Amino acid sequence: MDVETARARLESERDRLQGVLSAAGRDTGSAEGLRPDQLPAEQAAETLNRELDTSVEQRVRAELAAVEAALRRLDAGTYGLCEVCGQPIAEERLEARPAARFCVADQAKAERDPRLRSLA
Ligand SMILES: [Zn+2]
Repeated sequence: MDVETARARLESERDRLQGVLSAAGRDTGSAEGLRPDQLPAEQAAETLNRELDTSVEQRVRAELAAVEAALRRLDAGTYGLCEVCGQPIAEERLEARPAARFCVADQAKAERDPRLRSLA
């Protein structure tokens, strides 16, 4: 994947993620809370939905951070290189995940190693 294609894909992904976050931000703090006429089961379901929203938002924020880091690597000329071993990341992996930071082997290691998991 050439640099311009990568940049275009990362920028559109960044815009999409920012859109998701701003849409989520409009929902938080709204007056829509638990209604007293709801059954307890419905209230529990709403609480669960809110917790899911929060974890989705955290994922989106993490994705956004990864996309922004990839854009910085593009500027620095290190885009597409594994941050652990420095080898080029496979083309098809970058196609599937333009913000990938590690090659497949180091990604697998990172997922097994709790010290690296936050980087994966
Ligand atoms: Zn590697």
